[in-house]
Amino acid sequence: MPVWPDNPPGEPLPIERFIQRAMAATAALAGVHEAGLLHRDIRPDNLIEDPNGGIHLSGFGLSVDVHSASALPASDPIFSSLAYMAPEQARRVQRQADQRSDLYALGMTFYEWLAGRLPFSAKDAVEWVYCHVARIPPPLTQHRGDIPEPLADLVHRLIAKNPDDRYQSAAGLQRDLSEMLRQWQQLGDIPDLPLHGQYDLTPARYAADTTTPWQGSAATAWRSSGAAPSNGPTSAPSVLGVTSLAGGRDALDLSSLMKSAHALRDEHEQDRLIEALLSNTILHAGAQRALLLLVKDEAPIICAAGQGGDEGLRIELVDTVPDKHHLPLSILYRVMRTRQRLVLDDVMADAYFATDEYVRQHPVRSALCVPLVRQGRVLGVLYLENNLAPGVFTVCRAEVLELLASQAAISLETARLHHQLEQENARRRDVENALRSARTRLAHVAQATVMGELAASIAHEINQPLASLVSNAAAGIRWLNRETPQVEEALSALRDIVAEGKRAGEIVHALQSLARQGPHHRRRLRVNDVIRHVVALTGVEVEQQRVLMTTHLTCSPARVCASSVQLQQVLLNLILNALDAMSAGDHVLRRLSITSEVVGDDYVVVSVEDTGRGIDPQYRDKLFDAFFTTKDKGMGMGLAICQSIVIAHGGHLYAMPARFGGATFVLTLPIVG
Ligand code: ADP
Repeated sequence: MPVWPDNPPGEPLPIERFIQRAMAATAALAGVHEAGLLHRDIRPDNLIEDPNGGIHLSGFGLSVDVHSASALPASDPIFSSLAYMAPEQARRVQRQADQRSDLYALGMTFYEWLAGRLPFSAKDAVEWVYCHVARIPPPLTQHRGDIPEPLADLVHRLIAKNPDDRYQSAAGLQRDLSEMLRQWQQLGDIPDLPLHGQYDLTPARYAADTTTPWQGSAATAWRSSGAAPSNGPTSAPSVLGVTSLAGGRDALDLSSLMKSAHALRDEHEQDRLIEALLSNTILHAGAQRALLLLVKDEAPIICAAGQGGDEGLRIELVDTVPDKHHLPLSILYRVMRTRQRLVLDDVMADAYFATDEYVRQHPVRSALCVPLVRQGRVLGVLYLENNLAPGVFTVCRAEVLELLASQAAISLETARLHHQLEQENARRRDVENALRSARTRLAHVAQATVMGELAASIAHEINQPLASLVSNAAAGIRWLNRETPQVEEALSALRDIVAEGKRAGEIVHALQSLARQGPHHRRRLRVNDVIRHVVALTGVEVEQQRVLMTTHLTCSPARVCASSVQLQQVLLNLILNALDAMSAGDHVLRRLSITSEVVGDDYVVVSVEDTGRGIDPQYRDKLFDAFFTTKDKGMGMGLAICQSIVIAHGGHLYAMPARFGGATFVLTLPIVG
């Protein structure tokens, strides 16, 4: 049934018409209160106007005796229209509902009649409750310019967060309304009106200072609460209707907590985690402001600040050292020192904290400060405040928040470790890349050096015998080409050629032994250490080629006398050859196994076994020859050098077929005592 047939919902009422209806509604409510009842569901749908302008109240389904209201169990379901419900009726603040809760709902109704809309809109129960507890209703005068200020004050006074700041009775309200009607009818205005009740209330009280010291920071994140801006279109009250929150307060807590826990589980990045934590906490707790501080290098740093506003929740990520402009430092230090939460019903009335510099500048009513503790360590602190009403943060609520905070602490710690791990990984990758290029350079330099030295020596040493060979051969030809061939002379030249040839052979031999001895410093070392070093060096390449490299190393402490650089060169060569052999073809499982064992106290035997294509039997005898290669870009010097190094160390290097079709290279080195 339409409530106001001549005024569809959403149409603001003319001032006189409003005052008359407000008076009729107040009279109806006064009657209910005089009868000792709380209505508990005042809203436009339950205010039925009769043809004479009188108003009848309906919807008594939730009504209770005023004396039994304080005895309602905590689990009493909230069956009220959330759009009109007083903060204390949602059991959000440490107060029992009383007649003033009905006056709050009546005030919301008045607001709607005058503005054509409610002061708040929200998308779910949690947000509705948050609006009533922590959001400041936009001034009525903002919606229409023709509302006399005393009338706007009257409505705002009805919807004050703190019941003590409201009209205390329907009778007082009734008196003021009839005085306003008289003034309006006589003067066409309501110039001034001394309001009844205990306290004076000015609109300035509602226009709280919303600027914060860190406003304007670059790292600003806006998280819309989903509520339409207060000056946008509003949803019709009938959509909100009567909402059942089975489980009452507990259901609200649980739904918030679940939301937060979910957000915390999903968010991996610390920034988004902090945003999620703060916005859920503000909504859940009914705070106007929240700060999250994390302890860095033993000192607390504000890393996020959240603020409820007309356009939703505003979360800013900051990095600020806290001072007296940000929060009551006395509260912060107390909580950090004791590691105990602090729930303050009315900070301004607290003998100790009221003297805090911050509190002197900001009228803090309710405050809650929770330490984020993990394994006995304070990781951070969560600070919440509400300056609109005292007693907003109950102990029970603080317990839920503490649960959330400890979950947050774990998540933050995990996020931090995650971040650290990522940095470590990046560093590891850098080091690996550096190692890899160093290894490539090393291999290149080693080979180039050896090749270069070898080439220069060969050129220098062999050139002479070669020149001599050529000239002797030419002389021999000449002797034989004479009319009478001079056989003796030619034979002598040939003998010289043989001698020069032998000399060249000796030079090559000398070069080989030069390579064997080398300038490298030898010392007693464990072959396993060399193997581990080379395995680490080649790890990335092995991984990239999807090869499974395994090592089975001897536990024997036996040592060999060797140059670790040269041994590294040998092993590196064998491993790279094995990778080359496995790179062709599509072996399902590419395996490279390196073992070391001690044989009879005399030798350390190292084997490098692969599952590559194996060694072609026709090349078996040539593998260690200098310049023998089957690769397009091979040099064929690797194994030759390896072998000369191993032999120079008193050991052997040989190749054999592997067990599973690949090749095994085995090197032996004598153990030293
Ligand atoms: P390069 O690698 O430049 O060819 P090397 O002297 O190191 O020179 O190797 C000579 C040849 O021995 C290679 O070209 C290859 O044919 C063969 N070879 C070496 N290691 C292996 C292996 N693990 N499996 C099969 N063939 C190999």
